[in-house]
This record gives sequence, C-alpha cells and structure tokens, in this order.
Amino acid sequence: MPVNPVRSFLRPGLAANGMSISVVVAAAVAGVGVYSLYLRRTSNNAESKGTFASFGFTSLRLQSAEMVNHNMRHLRFELPDPNAKSGLSLTSAVLTISFPNGGWIPVIRPYTPVSELDDKGYIELMVKHYPGGKQSTHMHSLQPGDKLIFAPIKGYAWTPNKHAHVALIAGGAGITPMYQLSRGILGNPEDRARVTLVWGVNTDDDIFLRDEFAALERKFPGRFKAVYAVAEPGPGSKHAAGFITAKLLEGAGLGAAEREKEGGDVKVLVCGPPPMEKAIAGTKGWGGKANGGVLAELGFTPDQIHRF
Ligand SMILES: Cc1cc2nc3c(=O)[nH]c(=O)nc-3n(C[C@H](O)[C@H](O)[C@H](O)COP(=O)(O)OP(=O)(O)OC[C@H]3O[C@@H](n4cnc5c(N)ncnc54)[C@H](O)[C@@H]3O)c2cc1C
Repeated sequence: MPVNPVRSFLRPGLAANGMSISVVVAAAVAGVGVYSLYLRRTSNNAESKGTFASFGFTSLRLQSAEMVNHNMRHLRFELPDPNAKSGLSLTSAVLTISFPNGGWIPVIRPYTPVSELDDKGYIELMVKHYPGGKQSTHMHSLQPGDKLIFAPIKGYAWTPNKHAHVALIAGGAGITPMYQLSRGILGNPEDRARVTLVWGVNTDDDIFLRDEFAALERKFPGRFKAVYAVAEPGPGSKHAAGFITAKLLEGAGLGAAEREKEGGDVKVLVCGPPPMEKAIAGTKGWGGKANGGVLAELGFTPDQIHRF
C-alpha cells in the first residue's frame, strides 16, 4: 500500500508525545500549490508567549465537542501547555490541516477561535457544517482524543482607537472574526472605538452567539450594537427579514449622513460566504480592494473596507 510521505512524516512524530515538534516538514501538495509545513519544538519560552505566538504547525488534541444548534459544533482543543495562552493577536485565526478519508492532499481552512485570547490551556472553535464541505465535515467527525494540525494566521491588525467606529458585517459562520474583534475592542479599557455589528443569517436558529452579543449590548450601551438580518425568519422573529441591504445598514447608523456627523472615521470589516461578500463589498478590484456593492452605494471608499 502506498505511503503518503507528508502524512507518515507528520503523524508518528505528532503522536509520539503531546508536545510540539521541532522538525521542518517538506511540502504538502494541494491542488494547485505546495504547502510547506513547519513543525516546531515548543520551548518553555515559546509557551510563555503562547502556543501560536510564532509561526509553526502544532498538533492539538480534541478535548470535547458538542452540537450547539442544527449545524454548528463547538470544539475545544487542548494546548500542549495547560498554562499557555494561544498567543494569537487581534485579529488572527488558525489554519487547520487535515487529510480526510486517508487522502494524500491536505485540506487547509481557516477558523477564528471563539475562546478569549487570554484563555489558558485551550482554544475553542465553532464550526458550521456545510454538506459536502471537506473540512467542516472532517471537523464534525472528530471525537475527543483525536488530533488536528493547526498553524496561526494573521487577520486584520487592530490597535486601540485605530478608528472611531468599526462596522462589522458578517454572513453565517463569518461571525467568528467579528466576535473576536468586538470582544477585543470592548474588553480593552484604553479603547474607545464604537462597534456596530450587522449579521446576516439564514434562520433565527443560526444566531448562535445571541446571548453573548446581547450581554455586550447591555454592558456597552451606546458603544456596541448588534443588528440581525434573517433570510428566512420564523414566525414571531424580531429581526429584519431578508439579506443585508443599504437600507438595513442605514437603519443601523451606517448611512452617509450619520457617518458625517461622527467625523467619517468608520472602518468596515466584511466576512461571509463569497456571494454575500460580493453583494456587500463588490468584486475584488486592483490590489484586493473592494469595488462596487452595497457599501459603495452608501459612499464607502475601498480604503475603508477590509475583507477577511
Ligand atoms: C478568516 C476566516 C475565519 C473563518 N472562521 C470560521 C469559523 O470560525 N467557523 C466556521 O464554521 N467557518 C469559518 N470560516 C469558513 C471556513 O474557513 C471554511 O470556508 C468552511 O468551514 C467551509 O469549508 P469546507 O472545507 O467544509 O467546505 P468546502 O469543501 O471548501 O466547500 C464545499 C461547499 O460548501 C459551501 N461553502 C464553503 N464555504 C462556505 C462559506 N464560508 N459559506 C457558505 N458556504 C460555503 C460551498 O457551497 C462549497 O461549494 C472562516 C473563514 C475565514 C476566511
């Protein structure tokens, strides 16, 4: 039986002990590209900075998992050192690497932890299952004790008060980077930025962080607001029906006149399924800048928009 050199190289070393590993791995070929995998031995110093403080691939063990609604699974992975933080910065995510069904080609997808950046000993993910989706199906099949390979990736770098107002526009599971940023901004006493979240979902049941966002609204009145658009609202739904539109964003205080009143320093971050991102931020123009879409209709310039 043929042996996958990448898998056979990774697995025995990772299984040998629960700690990280200091080996630079050769390449993993995936479709059109080559993925260079670097496995590092985690020194005490690296642990004190956090498991993902520097670039490297680390195998983490799944500690527990539970379904939180019809398609969303909450997974907790143990860090190699129970006293270490993740070392992730605001904002960043983790790449997950798997070889579903014993295949040769790695599947690599980003996920943004929903655990706090300061939490020690674990990271937690919320993963939505897309029928037929390669990584989400694998993530939903993992059992406690199973291992998965992770590496950090940087997202939008936020520093306190970088902008006066941040508009977070999310679709479906694209909410997790927005959750990380909302808590990072509001949880920092030095940061005075206002945050407006607009989240588009399919059904009312898909609003899986409802309590957490409601708590932020209560704790930070006038600074944090969450608005939901539900494509197929159930009877008695309190939320706007349909997709995220210019009218909905105006109602959330993101219209041109409202922005002018507050000085115009508004940054918009967008994360969601490709069709939703296109409708909101248009097609990706030169240098990845947004071009067209609902935000352009409202007068936002490409420089004001970041897509995860
Ligand atoms: C910065 C960042 C952070 C992310 N964080 C999370 C997170 O915390 N939790 C989470 O569940 N997902 C998150 N995602 C999305 C995640 O990376 C994958 O795209 C998603 O899990 C689907 O991967 P898959 O391999 O299962 O599907 P694939 O095999 O890639 O796709 C199969 C089919 O699923 C559908 N599909 C794929 N991706 C999406 C999508 N994003 N929305 C709608 N339909 C889709 C498409 O119809 C596609 O044809 C994040 C994405 C980014 C860019």
